[in-house]
Amino acid sequence: ERIVSKDAEPDDDAIERSLRPHQLADYIGQTAVKSQLTVYIQAALKREEAMDHVLLYGPPGLGKTTLALVIANELGVHIRTTSGPAIEKPGDLVAMLNELQPGDVLFVDEIHRLPKIVEEMLYSAMEDFYIDIVVGEGPTAHPVHFPLPPFTLIGATTRAGMLSAPLRDRFGITEHMQYYNEDELKHIVLRSASIFNMAVPDSAALEVARRSRGTPRIANRLLRRIRDFADVADSDLDVALVDHALAQLQVDDRGLDAIDRKLLGMMIRDYDGGPVGLNTIAANIGEETATIEEMYEPYLLQIGFLKRTPRGRMVTPAGYDHLHIPFTH
Ligand code: ADP
Repeated sequence: ERIVSKDAEPDDDAIERSLRPHQLADYIGQTAVKSQLTVYIQAALKREEAMDHVLLYGPPGLGKTTLALVIANELGVHIRTTSGPAIEKPGDLVAMLNELQPGDVLFVDEIHRLPKIVEEMLYSAMEDFYIDIVVGEGPTAHPVHFPLPPFTLIGATTRAGMLSAPLRDRFGITEHMQYYNEDELKHIVLRSASIFNMAVPDSAALEVARRSRGTPRIANRLLRRIRDFADVADSDLDVALVDHALAQLQVDDRGLDAIDRKLLGMMIRDYDGGPVGLNTIAANIGEETATIEEMYEPYLLQIGFLKRTPRGRMVTPAGYDHLHIPFTH
């Protein structure tokens, strides 16, 4: 199990919930996204209408689910959360939409994984708040026109490119979530530490922030693991302890873990730094291509250790440098 994995682990759920901010004012970072949403939320409140549908996209762990909860809270409406693969049949969608009160939010995580037939039903639901379904089978089958309360769909996806154009076009608001900077992550760490009743000096919080790959979920997870080390060693949570704990967890000074380093090292040693195709990378490190594309690669691209070329991925001089391998091209 990877410490820097951006997917929520089962035991994360309750803890993640406890760490979630509820108000826009407590939601750290994503300044551009927040200032736009503030306007849309206020406009919807003023008009007493459902807010326009929102598409949030960006890598896992950046706070999309949290933001959806914050939006519903600021709008003063209920939120129902589900995910693309969980809505298997049109009936599942109808049942869910039917339970909404006017103005409520339906949050669909991984919306790019909705079954096609469900996605197509969403078009009229989003646009004109109705669904046409066929009830019964064979000779008794008949169409039913099903009006819906006005609602706000908030969709989240790690890959905007995977969404079909008709679905994408039905979102009035599209927000691209960015990686967080060190200062923002430091504040997230300090906020979480205070919820956990932990004393964490600024310097240690900054060190955790530096190694969190720009991702709040990872920052919170590292903080919890470091707390375990502090408890067991009965030691203060300071920079030295952060260093020690993260060395044990094989998270290096840039937040890369053993698999990131394996990926870069393999590309350098076996392929002279690239270009290497995604499939080849995946086969060599024993991961699926989608996992590489969604979880490993975006951060390595972001910090400039990898670059994309038409012929495949290449390790940059900075990537060589990080692994202490001379760049000889
Ligand atoms: P996503 O849905 O994008 O995968 P989540 O919304 O589940 O990400 O966020 C993961 C964790 O990170 C949550 O537990 C939340 O507490 C924390 N988090 C995310 N964004 C923020 C933020 N802007 N401020 C504070 N905490 C955040």
